[in-house]
Amino acid sequence: MDVALATAWLRAAAGAVIADTDELTKLDAAIGDGDHGVNMRRGFTAVAAVLDDTAFTGVGEVFVKVGGTLIAKVGGASGPLYGSAFRAFGKALPPGESAGLGDLVAALRAALEAVTRLGGATPGDKTLVDAFGPAVTAFEEAVIGGAGLPEAAAGAARAAGDGARATTALTARKGRASYLGERSAGHQDPGATSTWLIFQALADVTAP
Ligand code: ADP
Ligand code: MG
Ligand code: MG
Repeated sequence: MDVALATAWLRAAAGAVIADTDELTKLDAAIGDGDHGVNMRRGFTAVAAVLDDTAFTGVGEVFVKVGGTLIAKVGGASGPLYGSAFRAFGKALPPGESAGLGDLVAALRAALEAVTRLGGATPGDKTLVDAFGPAVTAFEEAVIGGAGLPEAAAGAARAAGDGARATTALTARKGRASYLGERSAGHQDPGATSTWLIFQALADVTAP
């Protein structure tokens, strides 16, 4: 992954998140406070502007900058979580113009670790971790199996989608939705859904 692919991914993610603002807000209205779509739109609009205005020399730099932007702009629970994830992802990448598949696996692991360290969620808590965790595992397994980036990204997106859909049945144990207790079951988690969009964007921009 080089600087051009990193920015293409983040632009595609921004486009997808912004296009699905209403859907994300609707999901958050059911089990939260109805602002996830608007929070993410605010953050990714700022990300798109930063990508337009900055000349990056290192691939890691792109993600560190995006993470900082999300922390500054998103607010809510998801801002610091996504912001820390992107920052950790960028910091874990080697310096220089591009990163290899093994670097991406390590950086994804670092990003997931940053999210769980900050938010304390474990799998099954009905959070974005339930899409993020399976996506990282699928990406890693694909790479170990000899897949290239397009195939690994497609597998990660599929796993994120399966994970996001599977949050519907779960009872929330972290975040605002946990205040609802068992009434949170029957609704797909908004953060897991936006995580799916972000992995799907990587699959889309790398698809052959
Ligand atoms: P807020 O809940 O502050 O309004 P958002 O609506 O933007 O923030 O984001 C809500 C999403 O954040 C949830 O759907 C969930 O996926 C994610 N989330 C909340 N708390 C946590 C946590 N502790 N760990 C991981 N993800 C979390
Ligand atoms: Mg909310
Ligand atoms: Mg809120």
